[in-house]
Amino acid sequence: MEKMILNGEIRNRSEIKVEIEDRGYQFGDGVYEVIRIYNGKLFTSEMHLARLIESAKKINITIPYTIEEIEVKLKELIAENAITFGTVYMQFTRGVSPRNHAFPSTDVAPVYVAYTKEVPYSGVLKPGAKAITVEDIRWLRCDIKSLNLLGNILAKQKAAEAGCFEAIQHRCGTVTEGSSSNVSIVVNGELKTHPATNLILNGITRQVMIKICKDLGISYKEDDFTLEELLAAEEVIMTSTTAEITPITEIDGQAIGNGESGTVTRQLQQAFHAEIERQCGHISESIVK
Ligand code: PMP
Repeated sequence: MEKMILNGEIRNRSEIKVEIEDRGYQFGDGVYEVIRIYNGKLFTSEMHLARLIESAKKINITIPYTIEEIEVKLKELIAENAITFGTVYMQFTRGVSPRNHAFPSTDVAPVYVAYTKEVPYSGVLKPGAKAITVEDIRWLRCDIKSLNLLGNILAKQKAAEAGCFEAIQHRCGTVTEGSSSNVSIVVNGELKTHPATNLILNGITRQVMIKICKDLGISYKEDDFTLEELLAAEEVIMTSTTAEITPITEIDGQAIGNGESGTVTRQLQQAFHAEIERQCGHISESIVK
């Protein structure tokens, strides 16, 4: 029987119901996180949970648990559902209250739900993915990991319809991020990625990648770049919890570099894998699906 967390308690999935007037359901009024599980262990969970609490704070939701309390329950959930490789999705909404745009009274408690999903490990060096470019039509607080994902969804659907994996968004020709990932380029061996402003989500994978650049002495710059720079880059890289570090080898039907994963991408992928193993233990390549 699959288990989930509802308001801090582990319950059977069949016992959990969505209230019609949950503000997450009606307004997308809440925040979420996705954390990866390798070898049954949470990867970079403190960073994800700190971001969750920050996102909640930015929209005036107070999460009534500490990072440690959330982590303990998530670990229990992972064990109960016997997840070795997968993800845990969690969200906090502003709670259940008669529909009204303005916040409900302060005695309305947030609703917290978390559940796991099995995701096979896809290996260290991922094959190149295709992307399209689209206008970024989202709001101006993309730093908040909000449940409101309409702009992202419309962008991803365009990519799917074009037979592509990701949609790279831009505002007036300046690249921001993917529909569900951060995007970086390599020019003259230097990595460039949009600074962590209100226009992007400061991805945890992006932050780990930057730390790897520092550790390995790969030159990097947090600076925005144009669509022209994107298409002319030696390498284009997308990063996210689910895609990890994935090369983008074709954009709008045009090959990036020689159309194959580049040397900086491979270096980052290997170091990222080493970081996963440092935190979660050895992963045999024989399990790659
Ligand atoms: N930007 C957006 C819009 C996203 O949805 C995601 C994935 N959650 C990311 C960036 C990457 O963030 P992370 O590395 O923390 O998964």
